[in-house]
Amino acid sequence: MQNTGNDQEKNHGKAKPKTWNFPPKLPVTVSPLFTKPVKIEAVIKWFFLSWFPISERLIILCISVLCWLFFSPSVEQTQTFEWGWVVHIYLRNLLLMIMVAGGLHCYLYVFRKQGDELQYDTKPFAQNKSSFTFNNQVWDNIFWSCVSGVTIWTAYEALMLWSFSNGYSPQVTGPFSTLWLIGIIFFIPIWETFYFYLIHRFLHVPVLYKFAHSLHHRNTNVGPWSGFSMHPIEHLIYLASVLIHFVIPSHPLLIIFHLQFYALSAATTHTGFAGLLAGDKKWINLGTFHHQPHHRYFECNFGALEIAWDKWFGSFHDGTEPSHQAFMQRRREQVRAAHKPR
Ligand SMILES: [Zn+2]
Ligand SMILES: [Zn+2]
Repeated sequence: MQNTGNDQEKNHGKAKPKTWNFPPKLPVTVSPLFTKPVKIEAVIKWFFLSWFPISERLIILCISVLCWLFFSPSVEQTQTFEWGWVVHIYLRNLLLMIMVAGGLHCYLYVFRKQGDELQYDTKPFAQNKSSFTFNNQVWDNIFWSCVSGVTIWTAYEALMLWSFSNGYSPQVTGPFSTLWLIGIIFFIPIWETFYFYLIHRFLHVPVLYKFAHSLHHRNTNVGPWSGFSMHPIEHLIYLASVLIHFVIPSHPLLIIFHLQFYALSAATTHTGFAGLLAGDKKWINLGTFHHQPHHRYFECNFGALEIAWDKWFGSFHDGTEPSHQAFMQRRREQVRAAHKPR
Protein backbone atom coordinates (compact mmCIF):
# COMPACT_ATOMS: atom_id res chain seq x y z
CA MET A 1 0.00 0.00 0.00
CA GLN A 2 2.87 2.28 -0.67
CA ASN A 3 2.59 5.90 -1.56
CA THR A 4 3.64 6.97 -5.00
CA GLY A 5 4.21 10.29 -6.55
CA ASN A 6 1.38 10.52 -9.01
CA ASP A 7 -1.79 9.46 -7.22
CA GLN A 8 -2.07 12.56 -5.15
CA GLU A 9 -2.71 15.41 -7.52
CA LYS A 10 -5.56 17.73 -6.77
CA ASN A 11 -8.84 16.72 -8.36
CA HIS A 12 -9.85 19.48 -10.71
CA GLY A 13 -12.48 17.39 -12.44
CA LYS A 14 -16.17 18.12 -12.13
CA ALA A 15 -16.97 14.60 -10.94
CA LYS A 16 -15.64 15.02 -7.41
CA PRO A 17 -17.23 12.14 -5.47
CA LYS A 18 -19.37 13.43 -2.62
CA THR A 19 -18.20 10.57 -0.44
CA TRP A 20 -14.70 12.02 0.02
CA ASN A 21 -13.72 15.39 1.40
CA PHE A 22 -10.60 15.38 -0.76
CA PRO A 23 -10.29 12.87 -3.57
CA PRO A 24 -7.10 12.95 -5.64
CA LYS A 25 -7.18 13.15 -9.40
CA LEU A 26 -9.48 10.33 -10.49
CA PRO A 27 -9.48 7.66 -11.66
CA VAL A 28 -6.62 6.34 -9.56
CA THR A 29 -4.24 4.62 -11.92
CA VAL A 30 -1.82 1.74 -11.43
CA SER A 31 1.87 2.10 -12.22
CA PRO A 32 2.96 2.24 -15.87
CA LEU A 33 5.04 -0.90 -15.29
CA PHE A 34 2.25 -3.10 -16.57
CA THR A 35 0.64 -0.97 -19.26
CA LYS A 36 1.03 -2.10 -22.84
CA PRO A 37 3.08 -1.07 -24.67
CA VAL A 38 5.45 -0.27 -21.80
CA LYS A 39 6.48 3.39 -21.87
CA ILE A 40 10.00 3.50 -20.47
CA GLU A 41 9.85 7.25 -19.87
CA ALA A 42 6.67 6.90 -17.81
CA VAL A 43 8.18 4.03 -15.80
CA ILE A 44 11.30 6.06 -15.00
CA LYS A 45 9.18 9.07 -14.00
CA TRP A 46 6.96 6.91 -11.76
CA PHE A 47 9.97 5.31 -10.11
CA PHE A 48 11.75 8.65 -9.67
CA LEU A 49 8.71 10.34 -8.11
CA SER A 50 8.23 7.48 -5.67
CA TRP A 51 11.63 8.38 -4.14
CA PHE A 52 12.63 11.90 -5.16
CA PRO A 53 12.95 14.82 -4.66
CA ILE A 54 11.51 14.01 -1.24
CA SER A 55 9.37 11.10 -0.14
CA GLU A 56 8.48 9.08 2.92
CA ARG A 57 10.80 6.35 1.57
CA LEU A 58 13.75 8.69 1.37
CA ILE A 59 13.11 10.06 4.87
CA ILE A 60 12.79 6.53 6.31
CA LEU A 61 16.02 5.56 4.56
CA CYS A 62 17.80 8.54 6.19
CA ILE A 63 16.39 7.53 9.59
CA SER A 64 17.62 3.96 9.00
CA VAL A 65 21.13 5.13 8.11
CA LEU A 66 21.26 7.25 11.28
CA CYS A 67 19.95 4.35 13.37
CA TRP A 68 22.49 1.95 11.86
CA LEU A 69 25.36 4.38 12.45
CA PHE A 70 24.50 5.65 15.92
CA PHE A 71 21.63 3.75 17.55
CA SER A 72 22.20 0.07 16.84
CA PRO A 73 24.22 -2.64 18.56
CA SER A 74 27.46 -3.63 16.82
CA VAL A 75 27.89 -6.88 14.85
CA GLU A 76 30.09 -8.14 17.72
CA GLN A 77 27.40 -7.41 20.32
CA THR A 78 24.64 -9.15 18.38
CA GLN A 79 26.71 -12.33 18.07
CA THR A 80 25.51 -13.22 21.55
CA PHE A 81 21.90 -12.90 22.55
CA GLU A 82 21.55 -10.50 25.48
CA TRP A 83 18.46 -8.66 26.69
CA GLY A 84 20.46 -5.40 26.94
CA TRP A 85 20.82 -4.79 23.21
CA VAL A 86 17.34 -6.13 22.46
CA VAL A 87 15.77 -3.67 24.93
CA HIS A 88 17.92 -0.92 23.40
CA ILE A 89 16.43 -1.73 19.95
CA TYR A 90 12.90 -1.87 21.41
CA LEU A 91 13.22 1.57 22.99
CA ARG A 92 14.68 3.03 19.80
CA ASN A 93 11.85 1.53 17.71
CA LEU A 94 9.23 2.71 20.18
CA LEU A 95 10.65 6.22 20.05
CA LEU A 96 10.62 6.16 16.25
CA MET A 97 6.98 5.04 16.15
CA ILE A 98 5.97 7.72 18.64
CA MET A 99 7.87 10.37 16.69
CA VAL A 100 6.42 9.42 13.28
CA ALA A 101 2.85 8.30 14.10
CA GLY A 102 2.53 10.51 17.18
CA GLY A 103 4.09 13.51 15.46
CA LEU A 104 1.79 13.23 12.43
CA HIS A 105 -1.24 12.62 14.65
CA CYS A 106 -0.54 15.73 16.72
CA TYR A 107 0.20 17.87 13.68
CA LEU A 108 -2.81 16.76 11.63
CA TYR A 109 -5.45 15.84 14.19
CA VAL A 110 -4.68 17.45 17.55
CA PHE A 111 -3.44 20.86 16.40
CA ARG A 112 -5.21 20.60 13.01
CA LYS A 113 -2.32 22.47 11.40
CA GLN A 114 -3.83 22.18 7.93
CA GLY A 115 -7.50 21.88 8.87
CA ASP A 116 -9.21 19.48 6.47
CA GLU A 117 -7.03 20.50 3.53
CA LEU A 118 -6.05 17.31 1.66
CA GLN A 119 -7.98 15.18 4.18
CA TYR A 120 -9.74 12.30 2.46
CA ASP A 121 -12.38 11.58 5.08
CA THR A 122 -13.38 14.07 7.76
CA LYS A 123 -15.24 11.55 9.91
CA PRO A 124 -13.86 11.99 13.46
CA PHE A 125 -12.09 9.17 15.30
CA ALA A 126 -14.43 6.97 17.33
CA GLN A 127 -14.87 7.59 21.04
CA ASN A 128 -17.00 5.59 23.47
CA LYS A 129 -17.25 2.75 20.99
CA SER A 130 -17.00 -0.70 22.50
CA SER A 131 -15.48 -2.30 19.38
CA PHE A 132 -12.21 -0.49 20.23
CA THR A 133 -9.84 -1.35 23.06
CA PHE A 134 -10.37 1.28 25.80
CA ASN A 135 -13.54 2.23 23.83
CA ASN A 136 -11.43 4.77 21.99
CA GLN A 137 -10.05 4.49 18.44
CA VAL A 138 -6.85 6.47 18.97
CA TRP A 139 -5.88 4.77 22.26
CA ASP A 140 -6.76 1.40 20.71
CA ASN A 141 -4.47 2.13 17.76
CA ILE A 142 -1.62 3.37 19.97
CA PHE A 143 -1.90 0.29 22.19
CA TRP A 144 -1.74 -2.28 19.37
CA SER A 145 0.97 -0.38 17.49
CA CYS A 146 3.27 -0.03 20.49
CA VAL A 147 2.60 -3.14 22.54
CA SER A 148 2.24 -5.73 19.79
CA GLY A 149 3.72 -3.97 16.76
CA VAL A 150 6.94 -2.55 18.17
CA THR A 151 7.60 -5.76 20.13
CA ILE A 152 7.31 -8.02 17.08
CA TRP A 153 9.25 -5.53 14.93
CA THR A 154 12.03 -5.65 17.54
CA ALA A 155 11.90 -9.45 17.76
CA TYR A 156 12.39 -9.78 14.00
CA GLU A 157 15.18 -7.20 14.04
CA ALA A 158 16.97 -8.99 16.87
CA LEU A 159 16.57 -12.36 15.14
CA MET A 160 17.90 -11.06 11.83
CA LEU A 161 20.84 -9.13 13.33
CA TRP A 162 21.80 -12.14 15.45
CA SER A 163 21.55 -14.43 12.40
CA PHE A 164 23.62 -12.02 10.33
CA SER A 165 26.33 -11.74 12.99
CA ASN A 166 26.57 -15.50 13.30
CA GLY A 167 26.66 -16.17 9.56
CA TYR A 168 23.23 -17.80 9.40
CA SER A 169 22.09 -15.31 6.77
CA PRO A 170 24.19 -14.48 3.70
CA GLN A 171 26.31 -11.32 3.71
CA VAL A 172 27.03 -8.87 0.91
CA THR A 173 30.65 -9.25 -0.11
CA GLY A 174 32.80 -8.61 -3.16
CA PRO A 175 33.57 -5.64 -5.40
CA PHE A 176 29.93 -4.89 -6.24
CA SER A 177 28.67 -4.89 -2.67
CA THR A 178 27.80 -1.15 -2.63
CA LEU A 179 25.86 -1.48 -5.87
CA TRP A 180 24.06 -4.52 -4.47
CA LEU A 181 23.26 -2.62 -1.29
CA ILE A 182 21.73 0.27 -3.26
CA GLY A 183 19.87 -2.16 -5.52
CA ILE A 184 18.28 -3.94 -2.56
CA ILE A 185 17.26 -0.63 -0.98
CA PHE A 186 15.28 0.17 -4.16
CA PHE A 187 14.02 -3.40 -4.34
CA ILE A 188 12.54 -3.47 -0.81
CA PRO A 189 9.49 -1.25 -1.57
CA ILE A 190 8.76 -3.27 -4.73
CA TRP A 191 9.05 -6.50 -2.77
CA GLU A 192 6.68 -4.96 -0.20
CA THR A 193 3.95 -4.37 -2.78
CA PHE A 194 4.34 -7.94 -4.07
CA TYR A 195 4.38 -9.50 -0.60
CA PHE A 196 1.71 -7.25 0.91
CA TYR A 197 -0.95 -8.15 -1.66
CA LEU A 198 -0.45 -11.87 -1.13
CA ILE A 199 -0.56 -11.77 2.66
CA HIS A 200 -3.40 -9.27 2.64
CA ARG A 201 -5.58 -11.61 0.55
CA PHE A 202 -4.62 -14.39 2.92
CA LEU A 203 -5.63 -12.22 5.92
CA HIS A 204 -9.07 -11.82 4.37
CA VAL A 205 -9.70 -15.58 4.48
CA PRO A 206 -12.72 -15.62 6.87
CA VAL A 207 -11.08 -17.45 9.77
CA LEU A 208 -7.95 -15.24 9.73
CA TYR A 209 -10.01 -12.14 9.18
CA LYS A 210 -12.15 -12.91 12.19
CA PHE A 211 -9.26 -13.68 14.55
CA ALA A 212 -6.65 -11.25 13.32
CA HIS A 213 -7.20 -8.79 10.48
CA SER A 214 -10.56 -7.50 11.73
CA LEU A 215 -8.62 -5.63 14.41
CA HIS A 216 -6.98 -3.44 11.75
CA HIS A 217 -10.36 -3.07 10.05
CA ARG A 218 -11.98 -1.62 13.14
CA ASN A 219 -10.71 1.56 11.54
CA THR A 220 -13.20 2.48 8.83
CA ASN A 221 -11.52 5.87 8.76
CA VAL A 222 -7.82 6.00 9.41
CA GLY A 223 -5.15 8.14 11.03
CA PRO A 224 -1.37 7.78 11.50
CA TRP A 225 -1.76 5.42 14.46
CA SER A 226 -4.10 3.10 12.48
CA GLY A 227 -1.53 1.81 10.00
CA PHE A 228 0.50 -0.31 12.40
CA SER A 229 -2.48 -1.16 14.60
CA MET A 230 -2.76 -4.87 13.96
CA HIS A 231 -3.36 -8.13 15.76
CA PRO A 232 -0.10 -9.90 16.81
CA ILE A 233 -0.80 -12.64 14.22
CA GLU A 234 -0.96 -9.98 11.52
CA HIS A 235 2.22 -8.31 12.79
CA LEU A 236 3.96 -11.69 12.64
CA ILE A 237 2.83 -12.27 9.05
CA TYR A 238 3.31 -8.69 7.85
CA LEU A 239 6.84 -8.28 9.20
CA ALA A 240 7.90 -11.81 8.15
CA SER A 241 8.74 -10.13 4.86
CA VAL A 242 12.17 -9.42 6.38
CA LEU A 243 12.94 -13.16 6.37
CA ILE A 244 13.86 -12.71 2.70
CA HIS A 245 17.29 -11.67 4.06
CA PHE A 246 17.86 -15.34 4.88
CA VAL A 247 17.96 -15.82 1.10
CA ILE A 248 19.39 -12.64 -0.42
CA PRO A 249 22.88 -11.45 0.58
CA SER A 250 22.34 -8.73 3.11
CA HIS A 251 23.70 -6.17 5.55
CA PRO A 252 22.50 -4.83 8.94
CA LEU A 253 21.50 -1.54 7.28
CA LEU A 254 19.18 -3.43 4.91
CA ILE A 255 17.58 -5.32 7.79
CA ILE A 256 17.03 -2.10 9.75
CA PHE A 257 15.66 -0.25 6.70
CA HIS A 258 13.43 -3.16 5.67
CA LEU A 259 11.69 -3.27 9.06
CA GLN A 260 11.55 0.49 9.54
CA PHE A 261 10.10 0.87 6.07
CA TYR A 262 7.31 -1.59 6.88
CA ALA A 263 6.57 -0.22 10.34
CA LEU A 264 6.91 3.51 9.74
CA SER A 265 5.35 3.62 6.29
CA ALA A 266 2.31 1.85 7.76
CA ALA A 267 1.87 5.08 9.74
CA THR A 268 2.62 7.46 6.87
CA THR A 269 0.32 5.67 4.41
CA HIS A 270 -2.62 5.76 6.82
CA THR A 271 -2.50 9.45 7.74
CA GLY A 272 -5.87 10.06 6.04
CA PHE A 273 -4.30 13.08 4.32
CA ALA A 274 -2.83 13.24 0.82
CA GLY A 275 0.20 15.11 2.07
CA LEU A 276 1.69 17.84 4.20
CA LEU A 277 1.36 21.45 3.18
CA ALA A 278 3.89 24.23 3.46
CA GLY A 279 1.76 27.31 2.85
CA ASP A 280 -0.38 26.38 -0.14
CA LYS A 281 2.10 23.90 -1.50
CA LYS A 282 2.23 20.20 -0.79
CA TRP A 283 5.84 19.36 0.03
CA ILE A 284 5.43 15.64 0.62
CA ASN A 285 2.90 12.97 -0.34
CA LEU A 286 1.49 10.87 2.45
CA GLY A 287 -1.60 8.65 2.81
CA THR A 288 -2.52 6.46 -0.11
CA PHE A 289 -6.01 7.23 -1.38
CA HIS A 290 -6.54 3.80 -2.95
CA HIS A 291 -6.25 2.20 0.52
CA GLN A 292 -9.07 4.41 1.89
CA PRO A 293 -11.84 2.50 0.03
CA HIS A 294 -10.35 -0.73 1.40
CA HIS A 295 -10.96 0.52 4.94
CA ARG A 296 -14.42 1.76 4.08
CA TYR A 297 -15.67 -1.05 1.82
CA PHE A 298 -13.30 -3.93 2.78
CA GLU A 299 -13.44 -6.10 -0.37
CA CYS A 300 -11.45 -3.93 -2.78
CA ASN A 301 -7.92 -2.58 -3.25
CA PHE A 302 -6.01 -5.26 -1.37
CA GLY A 303 -2.72 -4.25 -2.93
CA ALA A 304 -0.75 -1.19 -3.95
CA LEU A 305 -0.45 0.61 -7.25
CA GLU A 306 3.02 -0.56 -8.31
CA ILE A 307 1.85 -4.05 -9.20
CA ALA A 308 -1.62 -4.25 -10.74
CA TRP A 309 -2.79 -7.22 -8.66
CA ASP A 310 -6.24 -5.74 -7.96
CA LYS A 311 -6.83 -5.02 -11.64
CA TRP A 312 -5.84 -8.53 -12.64
CA PHE A 313 -8.08 -10.13 -10.03
CA GLY A 314 -11.08 -7.81 -10.37
CA SER A 315 -10.92 -6.03 -7.01
CA PHE A 316 -9.70 -2.63 -8.21
CA HIS A 317 -11.69 0.44 -7.09
CA ASP A 318 -10.41 3.51 -8.92
CA GLY A 319 -12.35 5.98 -6.76
CA THR A 320 -14.84 7.04 -9.46
CA GLU A 321 -18.61 6.61 -9.24
CA PRO A 322 -18.82 4.02 -12.10
CA SER A 323 -16.07 2.00 -10.44
CA HIS A 324 -17.95 2.20 -7.15
CA GLN A 325 -21.18 1.05 -8.78
CA ALA A 326 -19.35 -1.89 -10.39
CA PHE A 327 -17.86 -2.78 -7.01
CA MET A 328 -21.30 -2.66 -5.31
CA GLN A 329 -22.73 -4.87 -8.04
CA ARG A 330 -19.92 -7.42 -7.54
CA ARG A 331 -20.60 -7.36 -3.82
CA ARG A 332 -24.35 -7.95 -4.30
CA GLU A 333 -23.59 -10.88 -6.60
CA GLN A 334 -21.18 -12.39 -4.07
CA VAL A 335 -23.78 -12.08 -1.28
CA ARG A 336 -26.45 -13.62 -3.54
CA ALA A 337 -24.12 -16.52 -4.47
CA ALA A 338 -23.26 -17.11 -0.81
CA HIS A 339 -26.96 -17.38 0.11
CA LYS A 340 -28.00 -19.45 -2.88
CA PRO A 341 -29.55 -22.78 -1.80
CA ARG A 342 -27.38 -25.72 -2.89
ZN1 LIG B 1 -7.79 -5.69 4.76
ZN1 LIG C 1 -4.90 -0.37 6.34
